[in-house]
Amino acid sequence: MSTATLPQPTATLDQLELNYPGQAPVLRGLSWQLLPGQVVGLLGRNGAGKTTLLEALLGLREPQAGQVRLFGQAAAEIDDATRARIGYVPQQSDLFEGFTPAQLLSYFKSFYPRWNEAKVEGLMSRWDIARDKPIAKLSGGQQQRLSIIRALAHEPDLLVLDEPVASLDPAGRRDFLRELVDQVLDRGTTVVFSTHILSDLERVAFNLAFLQAGRIAVQAPLDELIEQVRSVQGSAAEVQALTQACGAQVLRSHALDGGQERRLIRLPADAAAATAALDERLQAVNLEDLFMELT
Ligand code: ADP
Repeated sequence: MSTATLPQPTATLDQLELNYPGQAPVLRGLSWQLLPGQVVGLLGRNGAGKTTLLEALLGLREPQAGQVRLFGQAAAEIDDATRARIGYVPQQSDLFEGFTPAQLLSYFKSFYPRWNEAKVEGLMSRWDIARDKPIAKLSGGQQQRLSIIRALAHEPDLLVLDEPVASLDPAGRRDFLRELVDQVLDRGTTVVFSTHILSDLERVAFNLAFLQAGRIAVQAPLDELIEQVRSVQGSAAEVQALTQACGAQVLRSHALDGGQERRLIRLPADAAAATAALDERLQAVNLEDLFMELT
């Protein structure tokens, strides 16, 4: 197949190593790719390095080793035109608190060649944000929504959101995320959002990326993972033989007492694997199991 026919990745991260001074490494040889139109939920426990990874992805934090490319350019050196293709909602929004939302948006509008006023107005109404109240007086959730509107207004091709629904109540989180994603889907925007809350992901993230021990352990659509990932337990020899017979990839393994082993394996996507999946020694897993094992 000719590589010329493949779309250019939105972002490519290659062998990133990153640590803060005097601390254990956060990213350890992490490689990752985001393709146009992908919606990816980045899952990891608190402190796993999600924020660090998103900052490195955007060229805001320099890794000690490895490369990040955004739209084909080195992330640390992107030009203004490329920067205008990115929308970023950091965990702690740096909104100017003395401004009103109307002032803030008109200020940012001046920086971007493209600005979708109709979208901004529609979202301001729908998400119920007062235009002329000082930002400092808006609730945490409203400030977060305003920050998201700001990041959507210039119609980015890559939208990066760090815990975008952290300030919303649990009931509102998932529906809000769903709507957020709907806002960008028709444009083929690449979306990455981090979370440590599983319910955020149901019906929202088409792809899940699990950040574990400084690397992306697995990335795949949730339904594919549910279909292909199995847990298997038995004597080490039996588990090994079964893994081999299925042609499965080992995602995690735990040695247990008495020569027993428990493994999380991923079956290949073919007919033989579908038959293998019927073996009763292979246990299906759910999203919670995946999170426990892969983050
Ligand atoms: P997450 O977003 O998954 O909660 P972070 O990327 O915020 O994880 O943090 C990863 C690790 O790096 C944590 O151990 C955290 O304490 C540490 N860390 C994050 N930011 C800094 C910083 N600016 N200086 C030093 N250590 C940091």
